[in-house]
Amino acid sequence: MNSPFFPLDEKLLRAADTAAERCRQPFEQIDAVSQWNSAKVLAAFTRNHVAAEHFAGSTGYGYDDRGRDALDRVFADALGAEDALVRHNFVSGTHTIATALFGVLRPGDTMLCCTGKPYDTLDEVIGLRGEGMGSLKDFGVNYRQVDLKPNGAVDKEALSAALRSERVKLVHIQRSRGYSLRPSLTVEAIGEICRLVHEVSPFTVTLVDNCYGEFVEKTEPTDAGADLIVGSLIKNPGGGMAETGGYIAGRAALVALAANRLTVPGMGKEVGPTLSQLQGMFKGLFFAPHVTAQALKTAVFAAALFETLGYEATPGPDAPRTDIVETIRLGTPEALIAFCRGIQQGSPVDSFAAPEPWDMPGYACKVIMAAGAFIGGSSIELSADAPLREPYAVWLQGGLTFETGRLGVLAAAQALLEAGLLKDS
Ligand SMILES: *Cc1c(COP(=O)(O)O)cnc(C)c1O
Repeated sequence: MNSPFFPLDEKLLRAADTAAERCRQPFEQIDAVSQWNSAKVLAAFTRNHVAAEHFAGSTGYGYDDRGRDALDRVFADALGAEDALVRHNFVSGTHTIATALFGVLRPGDTMLCCTGKPYDTLDEVIGLRGEGMGSLKDFGVNYRQVDLKPNGAVDKEALSAALRSERVKLVHIQRSRGYSLRPSLTVEAIGEICRLVHEVSPFTVTLVDNCYGEFVEKTEPTDAGADLIVGSLIKNPGGGMAETGGYIAGRAALVALAANRLTVPGMGKEVGPTLSQLQGMFKGLFFAPHVTAQALKTAVFAAALFETLGYEATPGPDAPRTDIVETIRLGTPEALIAFCRGIQQGSPVDSFAAPEPWDMPGYACKVIMAAGAFIGGSSIELSADAPLREPYAVWLQGGLTFETGRLGVLAAAQALLEAGLLKDS
């Protein structure tokens, strides 16, 4: 039925009904995972005796901040890790990953990425682009890469051979697809890679870029043998409530090294004022399994709707998922722009703004982004971004509530239709 608040074209209404039918089964699975992970997170709160006093926050050096320590323990528990470093001081996922890399790697060490080229914003961190900016390369850290096989799987033979031919300090594994169309890596697949790495080379650290993956499955890569996992609090684990920040979780000795990099050697985790950020981070983690489920439902609905409308969406509506990202191949730059403008129009904040492609820091080509979010750049909130390059696909993620996520997706389809760019229309 058409909503008086959000009138849609009849053709889209019919497609939305068809899509809703296809969502039924996948939604049941999403609810089951959300229930499982909600119990896990709640248990982490109760086991660690989270109390109202933990929200007080500290100033200055942040000595003896019991809330900060409790937050680290709760996150560690919820993520199946020995220890965690959860801080609002991390400005982004990229900053958090860079902190973990610089914390573990030393001059002369080799880092190997086994999931092809890592996420675009890591180019300058590793030193694949730019010079003299203080990249890992500038500090004498070598970089190697094992490309994915044509079917998107990790090339285990090549990884094994690379580990045997050279001492590798750290293997970087990216769970989510980033701006590529490869399938994202399941926790099970990541576990297999970690086992292989540790078998061939026991001292090698496995680090998983876990961005967009948290709470999508019942387990995390740390449960499956990863030494470190890293993510952003303005994605899944912040539940849409953390205002900024990131986390690093895993083996305590490695988390300590990352903490030394974030603050200074000798102080590590013992300092860091939490100001007024603790309650939002605790509350965000509490909401995270549920909000992740809302984002997943939005992604599944988008896949079902756009498949119904004749587009290629990956993953498909029925495919198993390990992250909240949906990719829709729109085919032309004009369609990308119309889609992103539609998402923006269907957002609660800045709905009247028209996104334009621009040169984002950290990205190699122009990117268009729709983000009508409460928190700047938050992508657990409904958001879409697309690099203006082949195959002209849009990467869609987030949705704090499925009800509004669904409307945002429909607004994008409506924008395509109104621009005369919708297939068969
Ligand atoms: C979002 C993301 C990052 C980090 O991105 P920021 O914009 O710096 O927060 C890194 N890797 C992957 C796979 C991501 O999805």
